[in-house]
Amino acid sequence: LRKPKIVILGAGYGGLMTATRLQKSLGVNEADITLVNKNDYHYETTWLHEASAGTLHHDRVRYPVENVIDRSKVNFVKGTVASIDREGKKVVLEEGEYPYDYLVVALGGESETFGIKGLKEYAYSITNVNSARQIREHIEYQFATYNTEEEKHEDRLTIVVGGAGFTGIEFLGELANRIPELCKEYDIDQNKVQVLCVEAAPSALPGFDPELVEYAVSLLERKGVEFRIGTAIKECTPEGIIVGKDDQEEEIKAGTVVWAAGVRGNSIIEASGFEAMRGRVKVDQFLRAPGHDDVFIIGDSSLVINEEINRPYPPTAQIAMQQGENVAKNISVLVRGQGEMQDFSFDNKGSVCSLGEDDAIGVVFGKKVVGTKASFMKKMVDNRALFMIGGPSLVMKKGKFKLL
Ligand code: FAD
Repeated sequence: LRKPKIVILGAGYGGLMTATRLQKSLGVNEADITLVNKNDYHYETTWLHEASAGTLHHDRVRYPVENVIDRSKVNFVKGTVASIDREGKKVVLEEGEYPYDYLVVALGGESETFGIKGLKEYAYSITNVNSARQIREHIEYQFATYNTEEEKHEDRLTIVVGGAGFTGIEFLGELANRIPELCKEYDIDQNKVQVLCVEAAPSALPGFDPELVEYAVSLLERKGVEFRIGTAIKECTPEGIIVGKDDQEEEIKAGTVVWAAGVRGNSIIEASGFEAMRGRVKVDQFLRAPGHDDVFIIGDSSLVINEEINRPYPPTAQIAMQQGENVAKNISVLVRGQGEMQDFSFDNKGSVCSLGEDDAIGVVFGKKVVGTKASFMKKMVDNRALFMIGGPSLVMKKGKFKLL
């Protein structure tokens, strides 16, 4: 009897959750499971702001995929997906083709630049280990170069962060802690450093409780971050950015521009002909692409509507992992031809936004938390993600234990 072929694309939160749950629920003889990922390692996307600021080494945010998969059940392929052939039911990699009976697309997101001129070319974005490492190196290079030049270029010491959403604020929290260390290391007067956050919306952290937003913004301001709220980045150039407010334009020179204001689905989704909104597919109750009973899409490339407010849930690691669990259950049902598939429903446990290693804000199980208590909870959330995928041994290896 031919075993059904299950192919999982991406070893991020959604993909690894699917693979590790499937290897528990299905026997070796029940299915052929293949997991494809660009790198032979998984990285914690939710920790990349730390690696980007240089407050956590990039090796701390990643681990080999092989550490968490059972090789007798899951065939791991290190490869880059080029496209999905929906009619031919196969995945095309740069390195070869993989046919599937059931496909799980968990390729994550990409930076959304909304067509703003120059952002793609001149701004950095916090998307993976490579880009995080490059941001850290670039900022350090600016600091290291400053004192070597006879004519001082203070804009080398200006860092612009585009967007005061979750990612922007978390990155600013790390930067605020990192700048004093960099100044000490490179003999630079901290007054010469400028960290600027530019946000087009009327407030920072839209969707968060206003009291918590106020806590975050004033803490970051005390640490030297300057906010330009209600101000849009019109263009990014090799020298910095051009911003606009009330019909007025202003150039801000900056040695570093980091764009942290938008996520879209993986470009492979649209390139493969799926109907999508900003690269995200509005999936059915079982997380399948409309019209494709054999293709499940989860994580940042999927779109699930929150019926209570009739708007999509924001893309998070939390929802990606719950989707992975749901898909693993439903694929087991399909493979066995027994039982009923379960609808996906998101159980929001809350969210915690870090403000550097030592502070945070959040809402957990409906309660507001700030300060060291919130920071402790953030580390628990980070450790929980490790636990869900790799159990206690992964938490021991990669967990965050500097609790208070
Ligand atoms: P990912 O976990 O990003 O994984 C995608 C995987 O696909 C990667 O391993 C990648 O290498 C691989 N891949 C991509 N393209 C290809 C290809 N062509 N071929 C092969 N492999 C490929 N969410 C929270 O819930 N809480 C937080 O506190 C939080 N903080 C965040 C902080 C930052 C700085 C950022 C950037 C995001 C944060 N998020 C947070 C959002 C969260 O990280 C994402 O929603 C989550 O990672 C999505 O999971 P995913 O499985 O869709 O993709």
